[in-house]
Order: sequence, then C-alpha cells, then structure tokens
Amino acid sequence: MRKLFAFAITVCIVFQVSAQDLAYYLPDSVGYNASIPKPKEIIHHEVGEWHITHDRLVNYMKAIATAAPNRVKMELMGLTYESRPQVLLIFSAKKNLDKLEEIRKQHLLLTDPTKSSSVDISNMPIVVYIGHSIHGNEPSGSNAALLTAYYLAAAEGKQIDDLLNNTIILFDPSFNPDGLQRFSTWANQHKSKNLVTDPNSREFNEVWPGGRFNHYWFDLNRDWLPAVHVESQNRLRWFHAWKPNVLTDHHEQGSNASFFFQPGVPSRVNPLTPEKNQELTGKLGKYHARNLDRIGSLYFTKENYDDFYYGKGSTFPDINGGIGILFEQASSRGHAQQTSNGVLRFPATIKNQFVTALSTLEGSCALRKEFLEYQRDFFKNAVNNTATSTTKGYVFGDKKDVSKTALFIEMLRRHEIDVHHINANINNGEFEKGSSYFVPLNQPQSGLIKAIFDKQLVYQDSLFYDITSWTMPLAFGLPYTEQTTTTIAGAKLEQNITPTGVVEGGKSNYAYLFEWNELYAPKALYALQEAGILTKVATNNFNIALTNGNRNFNYGTIFIPVHLQQMNSSDLYTLIQKIAQENSLHIYAVNSGNVNSGSDLGSSKFISLNKPNIALLVGTGVNATDAGEVWHLLDQRMQIPSSHLEINMFNRIELNKYNTIVMVGGSYTDLNKEKLKAWVQNGGNLVVTEEAVAWAAQNGISNVNFKKLKQATDSTQKLSYVEREQIEGAQQMSGAIFSASADLTHPLAYGYAQKNVSLFKANKVFMEKSKNPFATPFTYGNNPLQSGWVSKQNLDAVKNSAAVIVNTVGSGRVINIADNPCFRAFWLGSTKLFLNAVFFGKVIDAASARSED
Ligand SMILES: [Zn+2]
Repeated sequence: MRKLFAFAITVCIVFQVSAQDLAYYLPDSVGYNASIPKPKEIIHHEVGEWHITHDRLVNYMKAIATAAPNRVKMELMGLTYESRPQVLLIFSAKKNLDKLEEIRKQHLLLTDPTKSSSVDISNMPIVVYIGHSIHGNEPSGSNAALLTAYYLAAAEGKQIDDLLNNTIILFDPSFNPDGLQRFSTWANQHKSKNLVTDPNSREFNEVWPGGRFNHYWFDLNRDWLPAVHVESQNRLRWFHAWKPNVLTDHHEQGSNASFFFQPGVPSRVNPLTPEKNQELTGKLGKYHARNLDRIGSLYFTKENYDDFYYGKGSTFPDINGGIGILFEQASSRGHAQQTSNGVLRFPATIKNQFVTALSTLEGSCALRKEFLEYQRDFFKNAVNNTATSTTKGYVFGDKKDVSKTALFIEMLRRHEIDVHHINANINNGEFEKGSSYFVPLNQPQSGLIKAIFDKQLVYQDSLFYDITSWTMPLAFGLPYTEQTTTTIAGAKLEQNITPTGVVEGGKSNYAYLFEWNELYAPKALYALQEAGILTKVATNNFNIALTNGNRNFNYGTIFIPVHLQQMNSSDLYTLIQKIAQENSLHIYAVNSGNVNSGSDLGSSKFISLNKPNIALLVGTGVNATDAGEVWHLLDQRMQIPSSHLEINMFNRIELNKYNTIVMVGGSYTDLNKEKLKAWVQNGGNLVVTEEAVAWAAQNGISNVNFKKLKQATDSTQKLSYVEREQIEGAQQMSGAIFSASADLTHPLAYGYAQKNVSLFKANKVFMEKSKNPFATPFTYGNNPLQSGWVSKQNLDAVKNSAAVIVNTVGSGRVINIADNPCFRAFWLGSTKLFLNAVFFGKVIDAASARSED
C-alpha cells in the first residue's frame, strides 16, 4: 500500500513538472534582453518538454545568431555523413568579435615557444570550447545547449559583460548531429502524454544500433586522435585554429548514477599529461561543485572515469595545451524514468548540464591568466623536454604502400605536426627518399607526437575505461624507426602528398598485372570485377619481362588477361588507366606470358577470382561498432557494397545470392545455425571475427579449439571484499597491441611485405593452433605484446595462440580471425587480412585448411 501511495505521488510530480518554462533553469538574479527569442519561440516547445531534434537545434542557433550579432557569430564547420550542418557559434563581446582574427592569431602565439615569451596575456581573452552530446543518445547536453545559447545571447548585467569581455566561447551544440537526430526521433515518438517512467517501456530501449553512434555506427568519442570521420575532421579544423584553453564534453551515464565531473581517477591519467593539467582541472571542479550544491544536485569526482586515451574529447585537449572536462549526467534517456534515486526527469538532467556549462565559463574566466600561462608553459616545456631526450624524431614510410603512408601524413598534419622529407636513404634502403618521411620531435606538438609514436608497457593502474595503447604506426602497419639526430631532415611538407597511379608500359594486347600491397588494391580489384573483367590471383612469386626490364611480382599479384575479356582491348586499357589513377596503383602491361622464373601466366598457380557478394550480419546482439567498421571499410574506403542482414531476415531468405558472409563480435542466439552451416557446406565463404569465432565453434560450424585461461585467484586465497573490483577489472582485455607472425605465402597474408603484423586485441578469444600445419597463417609467438596493458593470465593465453585459422566445411571455408582486423577504421595494418579473407577465402586450398582436430 505504501508503495502504491508513493507511486501516486511520483506520477503527480511528474505530471506537474512535465512542461518546464525557462524559469526552472535560468538564474533568477539575471535580467534578459527581451529581443532575443526564447527557445520555445523557435523550436515550438519548452526545453525538456520534447527531445530537441538536430534540425530544430540548428534553427534556434541561427535565430540567436541573427538576433544577437553583437554577441555571436555563427560558422558552418562542415556537414556530417548525412549532410547535417555542424554549426559553431562564437560568443564574445562586440569589441572582441570585431577583431576576432587578430585575437585568434595572438592566442596562437602562446603555442609557439619561439614567440610566446613576449606575448602580453594581461588582457588576453581565454578560449573555451563548449561541446555537447557526442553520444547522440546522451541528449541532456544538446538540449542544455539551447539554454546556454539563450543565456549567452540574452543575459544582461555585469557578470555576463565580464564573461564576454574576457572569453571567446566556441559553442558546439551537437558533436554528433546524425546520432542526435536518430535518438531524438526515437525518444519523441514514444513519449506518452502521461509520462511513463517504467524503464522497461519502449521509450527507454532504443532499437539497434541506437543514437550513440554516427552514421557508420562509430563512437565519435574515440575519434579525436585518428580523426577518420568527417565530423571529427570538420571539428578539428576549428579546434586547431583556436587551440582552446578549456574544452567541455557533456555526456550521460547510467540512470541510477548522479553527476560526474573531472578530474577522474588520479592513477589513470596519461603520463604524457602534465600534473598541472590535473591541478587546474581540480580548480575548475570547485566551481562545478559550488554551482551544483546551489541547485541541490548530487555529484562525484575522481572515480570511475579516466583521462588516458587521447582519442576522447575530454582527454584530447590535455595533449594540446588545454584542459578537457568530462561531464557525465545520469540519463533519463526518455522524458522521465524511475531510478534508484526516484523519478529522474529529463529537465533535471538538462539543468545540471546547463549549470556546469556556466560554472565552466565562470571558472575559466576567473582563472583566465593561470590557464593562459599554463598553455604557454605547456608548449615551452614540450620543446625543452626534447632537448634532453635521446630520441629526436621518427622516420616512417612504406614504399610498397604509398596510399597508406599518405593517410598517415594526413593524420599527422591534421594535428599541425610538421612532417619533413628525408634527405638520404636509411636502414639499408628500408626507408627511401621519396617514400619515407621524418617527424622531428623538436616542435610544439612533441607531446602529441609521442602519444602517436610511443609504445607503452608500464602502467600505474590496471583498470581502464578504454584501450590502453594505440601506437599509430603499428596500427597503420607502417614501418618506422626512431632517430637520435635530426640530420636526416629534408624540406618540410607544405601540403599532404597525393600518390599517383599509372599504367607502366601503356596499352597491352596480352595482360596487365598489379601487386596487392597497396592500400587500395582491393578497391581496384572490385572495380574490375564489377565491370565484368575476369581477374586471377598469383599464388606464387614470379619474375617477368616488362617493356623497361625484368620485374619481380609477389604472391597475391592480380593478373588481367586481355583476350579472355568480353571487353575489347582499347576499352579495357581505358578502364585500366582509370583504375590505376583512382587507386594510386602502378599497373604493369606485359606482352608475353612467358616468365623468367616462377610460373607462366597460363599456369594453374593463377586462380580465377569471383566477385564477392557480401552479407554482413547486423542487428540485436551484434556489436554495432564492429559491424560499422566493416561497413565503413567496404563502403567508404573500398567502394564495395554489402547487404546488412538482420538475424530474422537471414533466417527467412534464400542465401544463394551471397558468396561471402561476415559475422563480427556479438551473440547470435537466434540465428538459424543449420541454415548457415548448409550455406558454408555448399561453398560459402564465412568470415568470423572476435566472439563470432567462439560462436561458430560452439555451434558446430567450425572446429576451432580454445585455450583454457588460468584464473587470477584460486580457492585457497582469502581476499578482502574491496579488492574484487581491482582484481577482476585487471583481467579485462581493454585493448592492446600484439605482434603476429604471418606466413607470407598464404592467401590470407597476400600484400604483406613483413612477417610481423600488429593486431589489436580487445577480447578473450584465445585459439589453439590448428593441428593442420598449414591452417594457421597468423600466429602469436612467445613474446607477442608490443604495447598496452594486459594481465599475466591473459598474456599467457595469447602466447603461442593462433590469430587466424582456416577451416573447411564441405566445399566452403570458415576464416576465423580472433581479433578485430578493422578496429576503429585506423587499424589499416590488418584491414588487408580482412579483405584477403573476403577476396581469397575460396582460393585457399582445401587440403591446407581441412581440419584433423
Ligand atoms: Zn557518452
């Protein structure tokens, strides 16, 4: 009965406050300019009454910019994948807006140690970037952006004048417009007039993949450093143009929590981040605490969240001379939800975000000089530290993969890292002039350079919120080496490099050849197949005469015979030229099938290829980011279409039209496994990664065996209750880099020039090597860890395990890849392995794969 009574009161309260007016949110001590439109006048509902859709959010920002030209300028940063505008509002006093470019240039001098000493900061504005809801289904941030924008445009009095006089506010209402739109549509379409607070209700349980992600189902809050996605690239242009002193990152956490603000766990701060950064974060925290106390909100700090991976929005500024601040508000997800703290209403979540945006501005303004001095010191120290360091820079480059080298340079230069040519060949020609480059450490971005190039094996803590290592040249699969002098440095690159493609030897009436090592070779192959061209792959090395001399061709070379095509030789040449150019490939014309060594071109060592018709399994139970990585790789990078099949669709359709099925990490409980097995037996090529490897084995589709994991604790030990979290957390595989040894003659290793391939592992799939000695083309050795945190038990399990195993099932193949070869779209070093599985799975000789286990 008491319960019922409490419920009745709750419903009543929810009803009463379901529609908020601005008075609920805004400080009442302040007057507001009546000529500035309130949110409702533009968006047609009160803030918090409905979830703001991205289009209405932008409408309001436009209205504010039009109504308050003396306080705000609006900029278009760019468009998302779904062509939504990413807008940036710049708030400041008119006197600052009138000379914004001058202020920006002055501000940037603080990041240049050769000039920063003479910069007068006594009257220099501080630059604060306020950013919202990078996870689209953590909506209180973007909804609070309506209030903060209104406040900054309309508030009157000394306090706001002081703020605007001393601050440049870069205001980003939505870090992830496509995700916000997807989520707000969901939340709004399920809202009842009488709010339903039952967490089981549909309003609180989005359909897969949910609004957290961008268009390709990626977590944009892992992309600040690799910047693979258009949203990050657009935003980073403005970040680096301004180098903000403070950047806020407004998120949501579980509904039963309260409110978190940084600093996070002290032992989980990246060691490259200066201590003073955390001290200043703590000082800002006092302002958040005071403002949250004032409105009676609960909060916590220095727990749960870390400041380690520089790909996150709240950590990225820490290696760029600023301070990133993570806010995590308990989520109402929908409009009001029952939680362990009572009913959590959407407006209350918005209010906390609004209040902490203001406390950030208040604190930043008050601590202005300290932050500006910190920024100046950060870049000075960065350069000073390189004087005592034995490493003076890094040389990188892959003469066999120019496109990948170009993408790496693009990533470095996006972060304003200087890249130079090299003036001589080094390491016996491993790094050559023209295809290798030098990054000197002696430059303002040296901290970020270390974060990009360094390996890490020593950690203060063993719990991590995200990955523990991301050494970028290993991720890209690019050869690199440290330098102890800068004598190798040639001219600085003034722009990104643009690799070119060419048909060497011109038109052929016999055949064309191209090697498989270049990044876009699979894209070229697919384009040929799509045009109906018969293609073959070389399963052997060979040497053959070209018009300008003999040349070696490696395993995996693609062979296009002229006379076997439906297309005439002139049209074929035109197509080959186009494909060479579009994919930055060198394609070679040959006029004879007679080789100098190896197999003649008519040999059965050249195997005809089928165009992959790919189905990717998606939907409930499937890891959305893993699936999105495959989609992005195929669609964006390789221009290869793939059908995305939900499990219930898979279960009811004919599978004949697909010759390749991809299953990424996930649980496939409802999948018709007999149907899948029959499809493989009939000749299908099944590519399984991560947990799907275990699923396939457990369901009789493949026959991989798994290593038994040693336990971290045993029954003879007596441990205290509070130790459990640390001990169990340390056994997580948060993500580290391991080196696998590849059999370069195996079709799954085609295109690799070096035996050691860096793979990213963030799971506990530890495969035993196959008893068939030819069926494990990628293996981990005795000392596989390259960089990152891993427990002893997990490391023991990785040691001498199989990274890739090929099984035959009937006339089909199952390619088992234990790790994630397409990780976050910047792990380009293993995408070749994945694409080999797609293109060459059926090329693998059955006897080399037949399992005797
Ligand atoms: Zn979040």
